[in-house]
Amino acid sequence: MARHENVRVDMARLWSTLMRSAEIGATPRGGLRRLALSEEDGQMRRQFGAWCEAAGCTLHVDAIGNMMALRPGTDPDGKAVLVGSHLDTQIKGGRFDGVLGVLAGLELIRTLNDHDIQTRLPIAVVNWTNEEGARFEPPMIGSAVFTGEKSVDFACSRTDRDGITLGAALDAIGFRGGDTIGPAQCDSLFELHIEQGPRLDAEKIQVGIVTGAFAVRGFIVEVTGETGHVGPTPMPARRNALVGAAHVTLAVEDIGWSRHETGGKSTTMRLKAEPNLLGILPDRVEMTCDLRHAREDVVAQMMDAFVQRIPDLEARSRCRIAIRESWSYGGMQFDAGCIGLVRAAVDRLGASHTDLLTEAGHDAMHVARHLPTAMIFTPCEDGLSHNEAENVTLADIEPGVNVLLQAVLARAL
Ligand SMILES: [Zn+2]
Repeated sequence: MARHENVRVDMARLWSTLMRSAEIGATPRGGLRRLALSEEDGQMRRQFGAWCEAAGCTLHVDAIGNMMALRPGTDPDGKAVLVGSHLDTQIKGGRFDGVLGVLAGLELIRTLNDHDIQTRLPIAVVNWTNEEGARFEPPMIGSAVFTGEKSVDFACSRTDRDGITLGAALDAIGFRGGDTIGPAQCDSLFELHIEQGPRLDAEKIQVGIVTGAFAVRGFIVEVTGETGHVGPTPMPARRNALVGAAHVTLAVEDIGWSRHETGGKSTTMRLKAEPNLLGILPDRVEMTCDLRHAREDVVAQMMDAFVQRIPDLEARSRCRIAIRESWSYGGMQFDAGCIGLVRAAVDRLGASHTDLLTEAGHDAMHVARHLPTAMIFTPCEDGLSHNEAENVTLADIEPGVNVLLQAVLARAL
């Protein structure tokens, strides 16, 4: 047992793997553009698959393109310990968001091979399809299909801005698989990820033990006005939907500020105006908004606060304002047993650490409703993410990667 506890990953090899990934979809400013199921994603998937097979794993691909590279265990009935994250990126994304979690999983397998360590349970390195949602909405759709929360048909019928369906995109890169893998075949999930926030870097803390997730409420607001000529239409007669949208944006912003001292956040992140032309008052705006807080009841209060503002926003803009669709996720605690393994590994390694909640969405949040799940955060420079300048050093990630190895080993042995 002591022997296993002294095992460490080969950081130089992991780094060279990360830097190879950083070439596939590289942007001129040092980031990555590797949209889900694009040509670049296909190339990265083939590279990842080749690495996994070279490490002795058997590659499984399901109907939504989730990749699972399986290293068998000694127990023929053993369920797989999943380790992974995502290889797709934002349009102007960084080199480590998601990628670190997948390639650290691969490095973990290579390390077990180097030390000839057999585990009782199989270990599967997973690459979830379309985590970012930058090409196909909603995000995290691969893990939602894995858990059964979304159907394969629903997922494959999502379209990108060019009208290409997710199913067609899977076919185009050859990643519509035939394997059926769900929570029933799996034991647990460990996801390592960069923090994507500033705390660990600012406080020089090596490892974030993620105990749960912020509660998130997203909603689409529809603002309805009336078209008219921007010249002759008198000010009192105007019903400009963009003015309504401006009032909504500021009201949503106020709600985040009213809760920011306890970590609350609010965002208006997208706006579609119609007809969106010169010379004409817009008559319709659709906007997507997002409220976040550690506590689910507070997010509910934030939502109520917005709903109560609507009549006033309507009066000020002379537009109709309605919430057309809303959704929520997060707000859960991760598994105490898996967190305990992470905590024990952190203590053994002597890494500085803190407990925190994830404020971003992750596949682990879908999976956590079905399997024991834990997340580990590493620092990233200035907390910057979803940005081409996203950066980590080898020293930033070394403690977290070894914590992942030790926690997974403790679960699988
Ligand atoms: Zn990510």
